[in-house]
Amino acid sequence: MTTSPRVSTIRNVRPWGGPAADLHVADGAITAVVPHDPAAAALSTDPSTDGVVDGKGLLALPGLVNAHAHVDKSWWGKPWVSYGGEGGTQGRIAHERAHRDELGIPGVDVTLAVLRESVRTGTTAVRSHVDVDLGVGLRGIEVVREAAAALGGAVHVEIVAFPQDGVLRRPGVLELLEQAAAAGAEHVGGLDPASIDRDPVRQLDGLFGIAERHGVGVDVHLHDGGDLGAFQIELMIERTLRAGLQGRVNVAHGFAVGQLAPSRQADLVAAMGEAGITMTTVAPIGAVPLPLHALRDAGVDVGLGTDGIRDLWSPYGTGDLLTLTTQLARLSGFRHDEDLVTAARVASSDAARFVGRPVHDLVPGAPADVVLVDAENVPDAVVRAPRRALVVAGGRVVARDGEVLV
Ligand SMILES: [Zn+2]
Repeated sequence: MTTSPRVSTIRNVRPWGGPAADLHVADGAITAVVPHDPAAAALSTDPSTDGVVDGKGLLALPGLVNAHAHVDKSWWGKPWVSYGGEGGTQGRIAHERAHRDELGIPGVDVTLAVLRESVRTGTTAVRSHVDVDLGVGLRGIEVVREAAAALGGAVHVEIVAFPQDGVLRRPGVLELLEQAAAAGAEHVGGLDPASIDRDPVRQLDGLFGIAERHGVGVDVHLHDGGDLGAFQIELMIERTLRAGLQGRVNVAHGFAVGQLAPSRQADLVAAMGEAGITMTTVAPIGAVPLPLHALRDAGVDVGLGTDGIRDLWSPYGTGDLLTLTTQLARLSGFRHDEDLVTAARVASSDAARFVGRPVHDLVPGAPADVVLVDAENVPDAVVRAPRRALVVAGGRVVARDGEVLV
C-alpha cells in the first residue's frame, strides 16, 4: 500500500504552457486552477505535512494515458530474454505460449514492474489488454487487478479481456470472455476476426453479443490491411449501430484505415465517426500512419498506446508514453506547434474515454493526475520528452525526479 504524500496544492506550474497557476486538490481531484500568487505565504518544504508542492514554474501536463498496453506479458525487470521463435502474428503467439510459463507470465511481480516503470514516466491511466485463453483462463486479469491494487491508485487500470490466441478457433474462449465480462472486465477484445479465426462475422457477433449482455466495450486488434481490414471495420460499424454501442467500440491498430485510397478512406472514416467508433495506435515504425487529422475531424477519437513492453513479442518498448508521443508526431509529419500540441492531447487529455473517465485534464473536476517537466512549452516537451520531474496521481505524489515513490 502506498504511503506517498497527499497533495493539497501544486503551486507555480504552467498548465499546457500557459501562465503560472496554482492547482488546488482535494479527495484526489483538481478543485480549482487559479493564477499563481508569488506573494503568498512561504512554501512548506515538507509536503508530507501540509501537502503543498512547489512546481518551480515547470510545464504541467495531465497524467499520460496509455490507451493500448499489455501489462500482463512483459518481462521488464527480469534478466534479458533473447528474441526467438518465428515472426508474424501466428509465430509470436506460438512462441509466447511456449515460453511464458518459464518467465512467470502472467505474474504479479512482472506486472508490478511494468506498471511502476509506467508511473515513473508519467503514465497515470492505462487500458491494458490481458490475455484470456484456454491455458491461463482468467488468471491474468486477477494478476493485473492485484498489481494495480498494490500501487494504491498510482495508476488507474482498465482491462480488456483479450483472446490473444483466437476466439472461434479455440472452442471455450468465447465462454471465458463472457465470464471475464461478467466478473468486471471493462471490455472484451478480439483479434483479426478474418485472418486468425477466418470467420469475421461469427467472431464479431460473439464479441458484440457479450458486450450487449454485460454492458462492456469492444476493443479489437485489427492488423488485417487494405480491403480485408476495411471490410471488418464495416462489420463493426454495422454491429455498433445495431447494438447501440456508440462510443464503446474501438479498433486497435487498424492499419487498413491508413492504407485505403483517399475516397474510400474518407467514406470509412466518416462512417466510423457516425458510429462513435474510436481507434488506438501504437505509432509503429514502418506502418502507414493513421490519418490523425481526418479521424479527429470526423469525430473518431484516437488514443496512443505502447502495445507490448519488452515481452516475448519484441524486446522493444519502455512504457514511456511521452517518448512514444515524439514518435507519433514524427511519423505523422508533425512540425507546427499546434500539431505537436495535438499529439500531446492524444496522449493525455483527449484519451479520457479510453480509461472510462469523463474528463482527464488540468481542469476542476478532473482526477488530480499531473506530470511536471522542465520544458519551455508543450511542443518542446513533445519533441524532447524530458525527464518527468514530478508525477501526481489521484492527488498523491507517486514519482519524483525519475524515482517511483510507490
Ligand atoms: Zn496489442
